[in-house]
Amino acid sequence: MATTLEMLWDSVLKKIHEAQYFDEQDFQVWIKKTTLFKIENDSAYVAYRSSITKAIMERQLALFEATLSEEWGNPVSLILIEQKEMEQMMPEVVVEQRTNTLLENKFNPNYTFENFIEGSSNKEAYAACFASCNQGSHPMFNPLMLFGNSGLGKTHLLHAVGNYLHTERPEAKVIYMYSGDFVSILIEAMKTKNIHGNTVDKVKEQLLDCDYFLIDDIQNLQHNSSQEVFFTVYNKLIEKGSQIIITSDIHPKELSNLQSRLISRFTSGLAINISKPGFETSKAILKKKLDGREDLVTDEVLDYLAMSYSSDVRDLEGKLNRLIFQSTLFNPDVIDLKFATEHLGKEPIVEQKNELTMKTIKRSVSQFYGLSISDLEGKSRLKAIMNARHICVYLSRELLHLPYMTIGKELGKRDHKTIQSSYTRAKDLMQKDQAFEIAVHKIKEKLL
Ligand code: ADP
Ligand code: MG
Repeated sequence: MATTLEMLWDSVLKKIHEAQYFDEQDFQVWIKKTTLFKIENDSAYVAYRSSITKAIMERQLALFEATLSEEWGNPVSLILIEQKEMEQMMPEVVVEQRTNTLLENKFNPNYTFENFIEGSSNKEAYAACFASCNQGSHPMFNPLMLFGNSGLGKTHLLHAVGNYLHTERPEAKVIYMYSGDFVSILIEAMKTKNIHGNTVDKVKEQLLDCDYFLIDDIQNLQHNSSQEVFFTVYNKLIEKGSQIIITSDIHPKELSNLQSRLISRFTSGLAINISKPGFETSKAILKKKLDGREDLVTDEVLDYLAMSYSSDVRDLEGKLNRLIFQSTLFNPDVIDLKFATEHLGKEPIVEQKNELTMKTIKRSVSQFYGLSISDLEGKSRLKAIMNARHICVYLSRELLHLPYMTIGKELGKRDHKTIQSSYTRAKDLMQKDQAFEIAVHKIKEKLL
């Protein structure tokens, strides 16, 4: 349980930090050093080391309670306790308890498949995770590895697997671990070897008794002896057909802190990239987050947030939360663009990507080939220009789903038949001409 409480408190503090309710220094020096050590009868016990921390937190107790209740999924009241007092309250054999409760996972109830918005950036990861929950006795892809920048939904998907299995297949034994916790559990177990017997073996034994092993942020598994234990557990689990799902902030091949024998094993299953969500997906995430409170915010604000902050969903949500919080202080009729830019004013505004239209497609294609837009729209039958035109047509179909007639109008007033055969030709070239295919991918990458 301790590991999940740590995780839970970690995400509460992260949210509070991101919303910048406190001065950075106060946060780092006082608030960050607190620990959540028990939740019992709707009371959450948080230990602090200094009376200054207590004073700072007491002033914002409601905020901590609200954030913790949201993350935990149930309303809780918060009780602040001095660290020393907490140590007296904790049972003597803390480590023993830690190692005995690996299986008692508490998944974040908000991180479900239903609450996850699918888009082209994450749909493979979603599908693979979902499929892994519904497979027969032998996993199709093992391990399943999800990699991508921080804040793009990897932890959310692991919890979604946990939550789903808990309700749909309660007989399945699931272990979720943050790799940093894996290391601390093992380090503690190694230290207490002489007091409580060989607890490393106990840890191993418990880990091996699972059907799903979900390990989060593998890039933090930097401790050598822990890697050894992990290696043994990993091999045995694969052998017995338990599904392993790993997440990483970096590409598996760049996990330089891990032993290469581990890395080569990780990539032997299925590795899937999660990239940043597109505009529409980001907007849908914000809407989901508002869930019934859409009236609070104008659509323009959602557009603005989705355009500016979608490279990290955590950040995106943080900005929305911040605006909602500010609106409780300033009581505007509605959070409009003026209010939003004023209150997020200090934030750097990320360069906005232009909305995808045929115009932007034409611009990118012409830039790629060093042509002008009028070359594209004109009548030249030079091969390079013809190919560029085919790409315009192809991308307008694939990305914008425009009818042939509309594409034709925008491309030198050509008729729909010409555009249709250009599209067929492009599809043909995608199969036969590697240079053409690469050009399409490069242009597409720039556009999305
Ligand atoms: P990572 O583990 O990749 O760093 P998280 O899973 O912690 O990212 O996601 C950060 C936040 O963004 C979480 O609150 C999560 O619920 C939310 N999030 C990320 N992607 C999505 C999505 N596609 N749909 C809904 N929420 C998402
Ligand atoms: Mg994560």
